[in-house]
Amino acid sequence: MARNMTEKMAGKILILGGTREAAELAADLVAEGHDVTTSLAGRTKEPEPLAGQTRIGGFSSGEMDGAEGLACYLSKNGFTRLVDATHPFAMQISRNAVEAARLSGITFEVRRRPPWKRTEGDNWIEVDDLDASRDAIPAGARVLLALGSQHIDTFAARDDVHFIIRMVDQPERKLPLADHELVLGKPPADTASEIILLKSYGVTHIVCRNSGGKGAYAKIEAARSLGLPVIIVGRQD
Ligand code: NAP
Repeated sequence: MARNMTEKMAGKILILGGTREAAELAADLVAEGHDVTTSLAGRTKEPEPLAGQTRIGGFSSGEMDGAEGLACYLSKNGFTRLVDATHPFAMQISRNAVEAARLSGITFEVRRRPPWKRTEGDNWIEVDDLDASRDAIPAGARVLLALGSQHIDTFAARDDVHFIIRMVDQPERKLPLADHELVLGKPPADTASEIILLKSYGVTHIVCRNSGGKGAYAKIEAARSLGLPVIIVGRQD
C-alpha cells in the first residue's frame, strides 16, 4: 500500500481545466495522492478554489506560441502527465495540448464530455456554427444567449432581436447588442430555476452550443418542458 502511494506520488500531473469535470478530476487525483496542478485561462475573475495547485493564464509569450509555451512549461516544471479536460468548444487550447504533448513526449490524455443527445420533446434547431445560429433566430424573438462573452459580437447585427445575456461576471465592455439585458451569475443546475428564468424573461428561443455535461443541461430540460426551440451549435470535432 505504502509502495503504491509512493509510485502515485512520483508523477506530476497538469490538468488543463476550466470545467466542472476538470475540478472533479483534480479532487479525485489529489485524494489518490497525486501532485496535481490545474491550469486556467483566467477568464473568470474569481474562480472556485480547486484541489491541488492552480496556475492561471495562457502559455504563449513574445517568441513562443501557445503550444511551444505549454511544452516549455511542462518540461521546466517536471510534469510527467498532461490531461486536457477543457471545455469541448475550447478548441485552440486543445490543439495546443496535442502539439505540446508531441513536442515534450509527455503522457497525454483527453477527457472530453460527450455531447447531449436530442430526446423526445426536444425542439432543437441544429446548426453547424455560431453564424448559422444567429441566422436561424426569427425576427422579434426573445433569446437567451447562453454563450461565452467572447462570442457575443457574432450577434451584433441582429437589432431585430431582444437578447437575454447570462454571464458569470459583469462584462468589462459595453456589449455590442442593440437590444439586450444582462442576467449575472452562474446558470442554475436545477431545471425548476431555469423554467422560472425563461418564463420571467419571456424567452422564446435559446441559443447555445452542444457542450454536454450536467452543469449546463438544466436549460435544455427547461426548454423541453416549456416546448421552447433551442438553436444548438453542434461540435465540429
Ligand atoms: P481557447 O479558445 O481554446 O483558448 C484560447 C487561448 O486561451 C489558448 O490559446 C490559451 O492561450 C488560453 N487558454 C485556454 N484554456 C487555457 C487553460 N486551461 N490554461 C491556460 N491557458 C488557456 O479557449 P476558450 O474557449 O477561450 O476557453 C478558455 C477556458 O475556459 C478553457 O480552459 C475552457 O476549459 C474554459 N471554458 C470554456 C468554455 C467555452 O465555451 N469555450 C466554457 C466553459 C469553460 P495560449 O495560447 O497563450 O496558451
